[in-house]
Formats: sequence, C-alpha cells, structure tokens
Amino acid sequence: MSTREPRRLLAQELAATAAAYQDAAVIPHCPTCAKPCCRLDKLVLELEWKQVKVFWRLDESREAFDRRLASGQGPQEIREGNGLYYVHSKPCPAYDEAGRSCRVYGQEIKPLGCSDFPVYEDRGGVLADLRCEAVDIEALADWLAKAIGPEWRIVRSADEEFPFLVTLAVRKIGKRSRS
Ligand code: SF4
Ligand code: SF4
Repeated sequence: MSTREPRRLLAQELAATAAAYQDAAVIPHCPTCAKPCCRLDKLVLELEWKQVKVFWRLDESREAFDRRLASGQGPQEIREGNGLYYVHSKPCPAYDEAGRSCRVYGQEIKPLGCSDFPVYEDRGGVLADLRCEAVDIEALADWLAKAIGPEWRIVRSADEEFPFLVTLAVRKIGKRSRS
C-alpha cells in the first residue's frame, strides 16, 4: 500500500480534531473576546476578488477597482498582490460588531483562512495561532493526544519568525527520524 493513504487519513483526523477543538473551546468564546480577530488590527485577511466584491458591495469591474486601488482612491485598508487582496487595520465589513459575529458564517463566501483560524491541520500536524486568546496550547495538546491515541507522540515547536504560530506535529512512537 502506498504511504499516501495513511497520511491522508491522519490529515483528515487531525483536521477533524482541530475543527472539534474550535467548536468546543474557541467559537463559544468569540462573543466575549477582548480582541476580536475580525477587527483586523493584528491579523491580515486574505481575500479573493469575489469576496472583495461582495464584502464592499462593489458594482464596478475588477479592472476598474484595481485601477482605483492603485491610484490611492480605493479602500485604504486593502492592498492587492499576486491576484489576491490583503485587508488590515480596519474591521472586516462582514463583521457585526454589535453581535460580535460574522455575517457570512457558514456561507460559501466566507474565506477559508477565517474557518482555519486559529487552529487547523497543517502538514501532518496541527497549527495553532496564539494571537487568539481562546487557544490554550496545553489543553489543545491534551485534546490532540486523546484524539490520536497512545501510539503517537506530539512534538511542539514555535515558528522562528512568528513565535505565536505553534505547531503540534504528531510522530509515530518508535519511528526514528532519518538524520
Ligand atoms: S481572536 Fe479567537 S476568540 Fe477572539 S474572536 Fe477571533 S477566533 Fe474568537
Ligand atoms: S469574513 Fe467573517 S470571520 Fe472572516 S474576518 Fe470577516 S467577519 Fe471575521
């Protein structure tokens, strides 16, 4: 059997575990969060054109919008790059400040990065973004350990450049790494 299938199954299990952690520990905290991520004062939101068009209620063409943006007449919080749009320093237009909720929650238009934040499967492990105050990395590691079982161990590491990004990699116990 190819090694791809077990890897794919592990990735699916990790993704399901990350989603379950978000449902249980993160989402219930959002309405009382002291620093909601959707205000985009710390995080950068990555959007495709279709999302920009809907969120800012634009009726112009993409070309016209890009020209406006390049001339400094577009929304100041949006930067264009590599065919995507990056939003920072103003709340996301889809954020309902009064209700402390996302107006496009559960909809196809919701950016993938929003669903992934702050805990998601990443290359055979789970990545946690500690900029979210609801993430308790110890509790997440315990949660993960229970989900994947005793034949796996969890190796924790922080990103060198962005130490608030912590990876919980899973390794098969007894399997030696090549060095
Ligand atoms: S930072 Fe975390 S707890 Fe706060 S609103 Fe965002 S996901 Fe919810
Ligand atoms: S789309 Fe929703 S979850 Fe994503 S930043 Fe905007 S309000 Fe927040």
